[in-house]
Amino acid sequence: MMSSKIAISMGGNIGCVEDNFHIAVEALCRAGISMINVSPVFSTAPVDCPPGTPDFHNAALTACCTMAPLELLDLCKQLEYAAGRPECYPRNAPRPLDLDIILYGDLVFEHDRLQIPHPRALERRFVLEPLAAIAPEWIFPTTGLTVKQHFERLSMNR
Ligand code: ADP
Ligand code: MG
Repeated sequence: MMSSKIAISMGGNIGCVEDNFHIAVEALCRAGISMINVSPVFSTAPVDCPPGTPDFHNAALTACCTMAPLELLDLCKQLEYAAGRPECYPRNAPRPLDLDIILYGDLVFEHDRLQIPHPRALERRFVLEPLAAIAPEWIFPTTGLTVKQHFERLSMNR
């Protein structure tokens, strides 16, 4: 079966977020996703959120995946839901678990429900910093620049 290298960003800011990360990683593993490598967890102050929003915790993982992109998205949504995230919620509302597909090999994918590379990844420090810790040389197929280069650019423009 064809296997692709994938990168997922994990985030959350309600409850025991790190426990939710562990539970999600175990569930991905049970679903047949292999070679999972998880970054350290980074804590960041909320961006574009209402006052009083708790800090976010973010991590990234890389793995090998034989699922098609939309199947992987559905799995991620199930795991978010299982962690207690409601199906409908205001944008940037506090959440126990957010799983975003950042990269899927060198695939560029455009669909109503799924864009790969993740359309907001390049402007999000909380995505690029953890990913740069485990996959600095991975090239974004849309820009030709590596994760590390994008992270450095973002750091320069602060
Ligand atoms: P964000 O992750 O940007 O904070 P949400 O988690 O609320 O926002 O996601 C909103 C929608 O984005 C999801 O329902 C999903 O269908 C869509 N989406 C588009 N591309 C992706 C991707 N690469 N990974 C995860 N979700 C994506
Ligand atoms: Mg998301």
